Amino acid sequence: MIQQIPVLRVCISCRKTYDRKDLLKITKDHKQGIMLGKGMGRSAYICKSKKCYSDSKIKKKLQKALKTFLEPEFVEIFEKEITSYNNYPH
Ligand SMILES: [Zn+2]
Repeated sequence: MIQQIPVLRVCISCRKTYDRKDLLKITKDHKQGIMLGKGMGRSAYICKSKKCYSDSKIKKKLQKALKTFLEPEFVEIFEKEITSYNNYPH
């Protein structure tokens, strides 16, 4: 059996390291713009702790990490996504 080596990524908010599958990936896709959990391009990761995704500075941090401008609506979509994510067992 092949042992799975966890891929570690840093949450852009709390700066803690997590297994990639425990993080939500936000990608600035080359063609489709900002995408959650998919897409190709510059990516940022955020953990699922409420403290992080509901941080008032999260949008700024994301914009900096992705080097892009985020629409105000994005934060709403993003929060919905991450809270629904939290309801699913892994
Ligand atoms: Zn975090």
